[in-house]
Amino acid sequence: MTEENSPGAETGGVRYDVVDGGVALVRMSRPEYRNAQNSAMTYALDDAFYRAAADDRVKVIVLAGDGKHFSAGHDIGTPDRDIDKPFDRRATLWWDHSDKKGVASRYARESEVYLGMCRRWREIPKPTIAMVQGACVAGALMLAWSCDLVIASDDAFFADPTVRMGIPGVEYFAHPWQMGPRFAKEFLFLGERVDAAAAQRLGMINRVVPRAELESSVLDMAKRIAAMPQLGLALAKRAVNQCEDLMGLRDGMDSVFGLHHVAHAHNAEMGLDSLAGHDARSMRDAAGRR
Ligand code: ZN
Repeated sequence: MTEENSPGAETGGVRYDVVDGGVALVRMSRPEYRNAQNSAMTYALDDAFYRAAADDRVKVIVLAGDGKHFSAGHDIGTPDRDIDKPFDRRATLWWDHSDKKGVASRYARESEVYLGMCRRWREIPKPTIAMVQGACVAGALMLAWSCDLVIASDDAFFADPTVRMGIPGVEYFAHPWQMGPRFAKEFLFLGERVDAAAAQRLGMINRVVPRAELESSVLDMAKRIAAMPQLGLALAKRAVNQCEDLMGLRDGMDSVFGLHHVAHAHNAEMGLDSLAGHDARSMRDAAGRR
């Protein structure tokens, strides 16, 4: 099925393949940790998306996760958690956070590996499809939401339990645009799981398919999109994204990123900080341990 799986394609817990029909398959591959994203993985995703964007053979990009779950969110406690490590390259112009403290560290890091990367991935001038099974929780929502389409299997569920940590939503704050303001509040206030059928009714995802048919359904759709004129697709994507920004997405996200960091600063000042700290267990429970 694959035309290419070149050396280095599996770095950082991410696999990259080009499938027949002009489709790139970017796979998170830490299934033993429910594809929790550490920084190594976000940089590897960034590399994979850059590669797919530059590859003329690739018309459509599919983002997937190996195993039972799409992703349980950001890495808040695996042995490979790398929140304090420096990385050689950066995606934004923010300084290296790893030798700074407080907001100078936290704001720079999250601007880089969370908000900055997700925004750039949303701007890739090729259609992107998130292929979601099992958990799509907290930081995983950011990945799905920055894709153009979301196809989920019937066992998928979605949740943002960050209010349990006193934080008003994940860094890529698209909630009111993804599900409407009314339900966005319920989603945040309760932090409970929303199943795939409900997510589709809310307009957060495009289609729900049986688990066994997820990959074939997504690849079939991806190949049909890939057959469309490439510039037309790029311009159509840009058109909808521009209108979404005119509906306030970008400015809203910027303003809420400040609130998000007020909450991080409060937690640090009150001694509540550390994502590995007081509420990590409830976060992990919400993320799909069952
Ligand atoms: Zn944060």
